[in-house]
Amino acid sequence: MEHAATPSWAMLAYLASGVLFILALRGLSSPASSRAGNRYGMIGMLIAVVTTLVTHQIAALPEILAAIAIGGGIGWVIARKIAMTDMPQLVAAFHSLVGLAAVLVGWAAYLNPEAFGILGADGLINPVSRVEAGLGIAIGAITFSGSVIAFLKLAGKMSGAPILLPARHVINLGALLAILGLIGYFTLDQQVWVIATITVLSFIIGFLLIIPIGGADMPVVVSMLNSYSGWAAAAMGFTLHNTAMIITGALVGSSGAILSYIMCKAMNRSFISVIAGGFGADASAGGGEAREQRPWKRGSAEDAAYMLGEAEKVIIIPGYGMAVSQAQHALREMADLLKAKGVEVKYAIHPVAGRMPGHMNVLLAEAQVPYDEVFELEDINSEFATADVAFIIGANDVVNPAAKTDKSSPIYGMPVFDVDKAKQVFFIKRSMGGVGYAGVDNDVFYMDQTLMLLADAKKMVEDINKGLAH
Ligand code: NDP
Repeated sequence: MEHAATPSWAMLAYLASGVLFILALRGLSSPASSRAGNRYGMIGMLIAVVTTLVTHQIAALPEILAAIAIGGGIGWVIARKIAMTDMPQLVAAFHSLVGLAAVLVGWAAYLNPEAFGILGADGLINPVSRVEAGLGIAIGAITFSGSVIAFLKLAGKMSGAPILLPARHVINLGALLAILGLIGYFTLDQQVWVIATITVLSFIIGFLLIIPIGGADMPVVVSMLNSYSGWAAAAMGFTLHNTAMIITGALVGSSGAILSYIMCKAMNRSFISVIAGGFGADASAGGGEAREQRPWKRGSAEDAAYMLGEAEKVIIIPGYGMAVSQAQHALREMADLLKAKGVEVKYAIHPVAGRMPGHMNVLLAEAQVPYDEVFELEDINSEFATADVAFIIGANDVVNPAAKTDKSSPIYGMPVFDVDKAKQVFFIKRSMGGVGYAGVDNDVFYMDQTLMLLADAKKMVEDINKGLAH
């Protein structure tokens, strides 16, 4: 690769792509503008890639086209095949690739400094470039192994329960300080053992940082790893002297950090306590076994259709189960039937409903639910008191009152929907035995005004729609 100074037209092109990325983020902040946002992002990326290809002699064009074809082909197949419910682990898997790329770029720069234009007059790698490569490798390796663990936990291939090592805080802090110390030492001595130790320690620390984090904190972890992958990309940008990459990495890094902060706030948890790990230690222990036998009432699709049709105001709370059964289209049909009867229908979305940020919004948008019927937690929670029906479809943890009252609960402190204030509650899930992500029982099942609608969500809503259509 050649390192002549970047021509000014290329700097302008990078600036333009940076602006387009900012517009993309702005667009993605609201469902109504998210398509436009995506398009800005795609155009920005196209400009950045073409500019880089034209200004750098990276490899022969056929090689690059072949790499794009192979990578793009794999991406295309995965995107077509992936089920919406598997998105979170896919995102985690993609983050791991960004991390690995940063490690490889750092090593490539170390092994071939001349090509990267980072040699000093003394024939050694510039100290500043050594810090950049060291940081890139460290952040990248942490992102890689952390994302692999997050992937395994989210895909259910590894228990979601936190694995708590004794003295883990001391071990983690010690390892982090050692990595920083080694990056400092690397500026004085560029021997291979230094960079190799940084790499190995960082892989280990990424693993150690994520294993103690319990299932209930996974939303924050996903966005935190998103942020790390951005910083890893920014570090790569410094090593590669690529302005567009630095801008993009910084945008992803900071937006991921802001998202993590918002998620923490949504779960009423401090960021430090999430990173320190161990939250949700009882997550998988809750299960069905310890459940008390308490009376509950079972409803039918006909009951639900009748009462929904008689209601004035219905608030729908979708959750992970709606995604599993892909009930969003049937649900929109139900809302249409109700609106035709003069019922006011609103959707209440919890920030951590489903398995990834924005999960419910994406599904409802896919079913073309009007955006002005969709409300966030703080905007709608006071309205349950005036609602005739709270219609819970595949949600569980996000309506669990234990979050407000039970200090020993793994979800204690998370704000939840006040569904108990509604006159009537319908709760769709497949069985009484199934629990939510946090693995705990839910008092809402046993409330006087609750009718359990036990069935697959899509099937149940389709049956309700038959009742409503009569
Ligand atoms: P939950 O995971 O609490 O509950 C899902 C519910 O859906 C269960 O009651 C389950 O019961 C039911 N269900 C599953 N499949 C079906 C189906 N086919 N038909 C009908 N019901 C079904 O979901 P919530 O959305 O309320 O909560 C999200 C949880 O996930 C929170 O604890 C959150 O912290 C966590 N999380 C969120 C992430 C995010 O970024 N949003 C990321 C990772 C975790 P049953 O099995 O009996 O059917």
